[in-house]
Amino acid sequence: MKIIERTRRMLQSNVSSIAFSQLCAIDLCPEKFLAESQDDSAVANRDEVIGQITHAIKEHGKDSRVVKMLMTKELEQLAPEDRQIASQEIERVAANAAEMEENDTAKVTRKTKRGEVTYRWYFADADCKLCARPDGIRFVEVDGEEVLEITDGKKGFYDPTAGRPPRKKDRDQGYFFGLVVSQALGWTGKVRLVLHYWGSKTEYQYWFSRGRVSQQLAEVKAKIEKIRGYIAENSFPAKPGFWCERCPIFAECVAGQRYADIKAGRYQPASSAAAS
Ligand code: SF4
Repeated sequence: MKIIERTRRMLQSNVSSIAFSQLCAIDLCPEKFLAESQDDSAVANRDEVIGQITHAIKEHGKDSRVVKMLMTKELEQLAPEDRQIASQEIERVAANAAEMEENDTAKVTRKTKRGEVTYRWYFADADCKLCARPDGIRFVEVDGEEVLEITDGKKGFYDPTAGRPPRKKDRDQGYFFGLVVSQALGWTGKVRLVLHYWGSKTEYQYWFSRGRVSQQLAEVKAKIEKIRGYIAENSFPAKPGFWCERCPIFAECVAGQRYADIKAGRYQPASSAAAS
């Protein structure tokens, strides 16, 4: 696995910055984390393509050159049967995103900062920069008070009438953005986190809690140390699970293939295969 070897070398020389997606991946499967860390050649799946192009449409406009180029390049990676589904879904989700933006009536108190801005904060205890790239930040007035609002768009669904919050991973990502952006800006006021679910045209708002910061930082530090531990041992174990489906090295991973076989009822342990 040339990609893995190259990435392993890259990581050995540098775990100086980390993003939320990497912190998530290390818990699921260290080998997948490694594969995703610098895998430029990984083929994107349909969901990733839809998410990426929808974000680009929001940022550059549907008819922009950037979007047209991305569409051509990304869609051609997909299987023919997925291409049409992805195109339709992009159209629908992007229209929902535009409608949600048009209906936004918040009172903005300072210039809105939008787009693909990466915020970085050096976390000295872990000797590592934490990186966050939310879809947008701005300052808004809430009950007469100025509040930093951090928004992130999701192509998926959230049903506010179901009586439960959106999935934990989305909420945790919001908390991570709240931590990094407020630290990067030196903002000590309130932070409102907003998740836009373009798939269902719904949103979820919650507040970043400063009371959780030390626990949040301890968790982040523990994960960074875990990564450094794997590097020190020169071993990133494969831990299969439902996440294998979206793994860039699924096709060549023995553990992932065995997991898929077990799930599909195809797996026969070597001893029983020999006996039959
Ligand atoms: S296929 Fe599964 S077990 Fe293998 S590296 Fe990917 S996520 Fe891990």
